[in-house]
Amino acid sequence: MSVQYVKGVGPKRAKKLNRINIETVNDLIYYFPRTYEDRRTIKKIIDCQEGEKATLKVLVCGDSAVNRPRKGLTITKVPVRDDTGFAYLVWFNQEYFAKRLKKGQTIKVNGKVKKNFKGLEIYNPEITTADKFDNRFDRVLPIYPLTEKLTNNEMIKLISNVLKEYIDLVEDVLPEDIIKNFNLWSIKDALLNIHFPTDRESYTKAKERLAFEELLILQLGLLMIKNKYNIEKSGIKFKKVQEINEFLSKLPFELTNAQKRVLKEISKDMESDKTMNRLVQGDVGSGKTIIAILAIFKAVKSGYQAVMMAPTEILARQHYESINEMLSEYDIKCELLVGSITNSKKKEILRKIRNGEIDVIVGTHAVIQNNVEFNRLGLAITDEQHRFGVRQRAALSLKGENPDVLVMTATPIPRTLALILYGDLDISIIDELPPGRKKVETYAINNNMKLRAYNFVKKQVKEGRQGYIVCPLVEESDSMNIQSATELYEKLSKEYFADLKLGLLHGKMKAKEKDEVMNKFKNGDIDILVSTTVIEVGVNVPNANIMVIENAERFGLAQLHQLRGRVGRGNYQSYCILINESKNKVARERMRIMERTNNGFIISEKDLELRGPGEFFGTRQHGLPDLKIANIFADMRILKMAQKVANKILERDPHLQDNKYKKLRNKITNMFDSKIEDISFN
Ligand code: ADP
Ligand code: MG
Repeated sequence: MSVQYVKGVGPKRAKKLNRINIETVNDLIYYFPRTYEDRRTIKKIIDCQEGEKATLKVLVCGDSAVNRPRKGLTITKVPVRDDTGFAYLVWFNQEYFAKRLKKGQTIKVNGKVKKNFKGLEIYNPEITTADKFDNRFDRVLPIYPLTEKLTNNEMIKLISNVLKEYIDLVEDVLPEDIIKNFNLWSIKDALLNIHFPTDRESYTKAKERLAFEELLILQLGLLMIKNKYNIEKSGIKFKKVQEINEFLSKLPFELTNAQKRVLKEISKDMESDKTMNRLVQGDVGSGKTIIAILAIFKAVKSGYQAVMMAPTEILARQHYESINEMLSEYDIKCELLVGSITNSKKKEILRKIRNGEIDVIVGTHAVIQNNVEFNRLGLAITDEQHRFGVRQRAALSLKGENPDVLVMTATPIPRTLALILYGDLDISIIDELPPGRKKVETYAINNNMKLRAYNFVKKQVKEGRQGYIVCPLVEESDSMNIQSATELYEKLSKEYFADLKLGLLHGKMKAKEKDEVMNKFKNGDIDILVSTTVIEVGVNVPNANIMVIENAERFGLAQLHQLRGRVGRGNYQSYCILINESKNKVARERMRIMERTNNGFIISEKDLELRGPGEFFGTRQHGLPDLKIANIFADMRILKMAQKVANKILERDPHLQDNKYKKLRNKITNMFDSKIEDISFN
């Protein structure tokens, strides 16, 4: 039912709500507060801390004074006191509040505390008469995530309206017995209290119930996917392939000890009759590709086909080229399957995969499409796993009869999370970079030093190197990202770098154009590549040794680290310049972390510390569906509970056929279909 039917919502408000993705009554009911403000306790002036929001009960003890220090700014001050001290209420450009106040009146106020040499000030406070009931005071106030032009008070009114009118229509998806066994709240109580908790306890119970439901749905979905694809069957026994030693001896480098160890682990898995299910974790540049190639070599020489799926065409093409270069002399046939190849070529490739003429297929999502049928798939590799959904990875292995599975990632996944995502996945870690790698020297600078940074890029190019300039991330939309990239590209080509060859790369370009640009860059026909984050994963151009990232503060640290990983891949000293326009303390601290360390694991840990689990270990990083209320880290206890329950339910009823699970089943389909399968097959 459209949100327009809620009391207080007209077409205008509906539009504003649509902007924050509230379309239906249900969306509004499930629009949870971002945080809460406890306005039940009244503070004394003497106890107020700088920067906090406080509620006070005070006596107006003087007349208001209005000050206009400059045009467009009006400061209104009203002196107040309680029995512990004095303070000023201060409003900026809001004279009307003060006008309502009279000397001698007792009021309640809530505002931000500012402590300075002038004494204590309360900035832009909300006020109310002390003895009158006011719905913004004396309670736990929910604070909603908002857009412009929609105030928190409006939101509170709308939500109370929608709850009053529609709460009885909300159906409980959890079966009776689960609610009883775990002593959970009903969905109605949970929803009422998540919006308007009366105290911490009621919030906790409400949150527990909602998080449990969400995590149960997540777990059931993940387990059902896993069960569907991982039916217990014995795996393939691959051969010990002697030729691998010859291949290794011909490589221009020796494997690092970490690579050797991981290769051994993989070989052992592959030679056993158990199906390999292995995650290879290794920081950017640690050399995961060669490990994948070696596994492919082994699979093909044992008489099987192998497939490797990468998240972008650029990356797929790059892998395809390396594999061809290294393996063609061993009579291994590799083809590239991506959206941009012609239909006739695609048909031919599909036919050759089916009849076994092709040994290795490298591609994007295109490789999991229905029309791809293998002859004897033995090994399925997913590169940069964090870019794919659980279902896509599973779909890849379904292309064969229990093929061995290798997933590779540069994103460190904590063990607990890996267990949730993959169940019995084994983990190999490449914890060593190839020798001779120089640390990428990283500098965070302000906008006013940008010109110097550009000059430095120029200097590197004059010495024969190449560079990347990464455009600021525009949160609002993809098309704005592209616009900003195009503008920056044009500006730079005309101004600072008029004498150099520039290229532009962004996500909405046709695959063919992207490839063209990438190839030019690889061949040195482009000096500086202006790009959005499409170059984030995996691209390898060793001659590029400098990267400038504009508005670096807008990126997550893990993402900055991935971006930075594009340089420092050759023998040249490499540089990464982060342009930070924020004066915010946390932003500066984050930039400092990037300056100090090149270790992805440390970076992710620090990011976790600074920004909380939401950002770095956000579900999106791992291809999980978005969660509304639960947090897989903070709610680990509930998660484990949900995991147990999910296992129990599926033991008895693997397909959730019992009628009492009907609503639960719908929710699972909703959660997974709308998110995980939301990929464009190109
Ligand atoms: P990532 O782990 O980020 O996928 P790549 O596999 O792309 O890293 O490897 C990065 C670069 O390091 C490539 O140019 C690759 O040829 C090179 N490389 C890999 N292993 C070694 C090694 N043992 N010694 C020297 N260079 C290596
Ligand atoms: Mg890689």
